Amino acid sequence: MMIPTIPTVEELLDKGFSRGKKAADMKRSEKIPKRIKGKRIEEVRVTTACQVIEAKLKMIIDRTPEIEELPEFYQDYIDITVGVDDLKQALGGINWAYGIISQLEDEYRNRIRKSAPERANTLRKQAYGRISSVVKKISKDLDFLDFAKNRLRNMPTVNFEATTVVIAGFPNVGKSTLLRQLTDAEPEVANYPFTTKGIQIGHIERHWQDIQIIDTPGLLDRPIGDMNDIELNAIVALEDLADTILFIFDASETCGYYLENQYNLFCEIQNIFDIPFIPLFNKIDLTEYDKKGENYEYINQFIEKTENPLIISAYEGNGIDEILTKFDSIEKIPRSKYPDDDYY
Ligand code: GDP
Repeated sequence: MMIPTIPTVEELLDKGFSRGKKAADMKRSEKIPKRIKGKRIEEVRVTTACQVIEAKLKMIIDRTPEIEELPEFYQDYIDITVGVDDLKQALGGINWAYGIISQLEDEYRNRIRKSAPERANTLRKQAYGRISSVVKKISKDLDFLDFAKNRLRNMPTVNFEATTVVIAGFPNVGKSTLLRQLTDAEPEVANYPFTTKGIQIGHIERHWQDIQIIDTPGLLDRPIGDMNDIELNAIVALEDLADTILFIFDASETCGYYLENQYNLFCEIQNIFDIPFIPLFNKIDLTEYDKKGENYEYINQFIEKTENPLIISAYEGNGIDEILTKFDSIEKIPRSKYPDDDYY
């Protein structure tokens, strides 16, 4: 979990003030000289309320990871999903409130101690008023953090040590069918901005090397020209991860897109990602390509335009071994920032 549970303004104040009252009630039963007892009670009421609120605020700050220390991919992900600047600003607000409430704790402890006994109650009320107004000032920050917490729930768990293959191609070309064929376990599904069904991550192990295969339905499956800047950012974030793009063509065109259009998408995505591509012509079982039938020439002109293509049928499981063999020679792209361990 990225961000801990975020209390509301009311919850924070209720918790602080009710704990303050409890502490004060306990003081009341203690044996203390009468002259200073009233002051002690008000003092402990203020300091306990402050400490409880400070502890809650500090827990939020401590348990939220430093954004700059996260791998680039997660930084991009957070930026696209909730906005890094907004998140930092909200955390800044929490930090500010923490500082002010600590100061109020010291200030009112001293003032109550030094005051005349009959002023203690007034000072405590004054302190409560100031605490309330500080906490109310971070209402927006608390709301934002709660929103961010929900948006960042179920972030993809990425293995930064693994070789990463990202699948691209128009809808219905067979991406998820292939992902299932390549991996043994059911792919893990996580949220990803601008993907219709979320991101799917499958894992395989080849010769002690972990390979993760990522399908992003709704993202790398339509012309780039149709995308807005934020969607493009969501694609660029994948560049921090991908070592190779597996681009799937539907040779049968039963997906509803002409090979010409599929080839254009292939070129567009190649322009964005400066990494190796594996072109793959799927659904060959629905064509007469193998028998050099009537659509052979038509399909072949596209196959010949690509470098080292594979010709497969994901549905029938033909060509899967060839894909896996190709995976063995993928080189992991060195990237600057890697965490030593998984964050999530
Ligand atoms: P995605 O949208 O790219 O993930 O495509 P899907 O994997 O959902 O596949 C779309 C449809 O094509 C499904 O009905 C699949 O069963 C079918 N399909 C996928 N690969 C093949 C294949 O190699 N041959 C045949 N005949 N059908 C396939």
